[in-house]
Amino acid sequence: MKAFLTRRKSLLVAASAALALSLSACGSSTTSNPPVAEKPSFAADTTMAKLSSAGKIVIGTKFDQPLFGQKGLDGKPVGFDVEMGKLIAAKLGIPADKIEWVETVSANREQFIKQGKVDMIVATYTINDKRKTEVDFAGPYYEAGQALMVNKDNTTITKPEDVKGKNVCSVTGSTPAETIVEKYGAILVPAATYSACLEPLRNKQVEAITTDNVILAGFVAKEPDAFKLASDETFTKEPYGIGLKKDDTEFRMWINDQLEAFDEDGSYKKAWEDTAGEVIKTAPALPTIDRY
Ligand code: GLU
Repeated sequence: MKAFLTRRKSLLVAASAALALSLSACGSSTTSNPPVAEKPSFAADTTMAKLSSAGKIVIGTKFDQPLFGQKGLDGKPVGFDVEMGKLIAAKLGIPADKIEWVETVSANREQFIKQGKVDMIVATYTINDKRKTEVDFAGPYYEAGQALMVNKDNTTITKPEDVKGKNVCSVTGSTPAETIVEKYGAILVPAATYSACLEPLRNKQVEAITTDNVILAGFVAKEPDAFKLASDETFTKEPYGIGLKKDDTEFRMWINDQLEAFDEDGSYKKAWEDTAGEVIKTAPALPTIDRY
């Protein structure tokens, strides 16, 4: 994804975003309850049939990322990923209050799926071949791209080449952490979550934080006087998928069908507008589903 905000616009958007975000913490995002399918029927022995008849589902998401997955005041996460999870659960006949949300950080996602700790994961989770050897991905449902966030007064870092030999915070087990070291020669200061990178940046123990542009945009929107994106340009493609057990092809294909249906009936667009769209105004088009 390229330049989703011009620099001047991003200042304006960021200023109003802090308000929008604080409203959303107690507003529509927490209470959104998509219409629940009544007694949907599924072929016996499929994951859909099992979850639907159990009437509940465990979904992994992030708890500290504004716009995509952040724990709200009532203890429930809100964000675009959370909305995707709720929409899928609703199609299984499972209402939002029967979803158990589990925090999944970047490094434990494959393990949590393999160990059966979650039924699926919607957590800014980039689809790639290495991860596909361990888990399956439905989607992509969104395409982000890697970017850098710096302190507001920084004038030296505008592109990834500028962080060579410099301390950069990112999260263990994430694709941006790997890229910034292997491709751009940064010195990685690893953290378990992106929010844990904020203080080291503020204190100038690191010169930048790197991860997906939309995650960083959420942090900038919350603290526009402290942080800024180094540039509106992104330097990788991060297609977000819904992680599930390897070789559960029926479940994967069924989720893919639902994603296309959400695009057609407007619920994809609404999910965006109610969450990330409060900061990133242009609603994305659903990427072409990868039916591998
Ligand atoms: N999308 C990237 C990844 O899956 C970075 C964001 C994250 O760590 O969740 O690794």
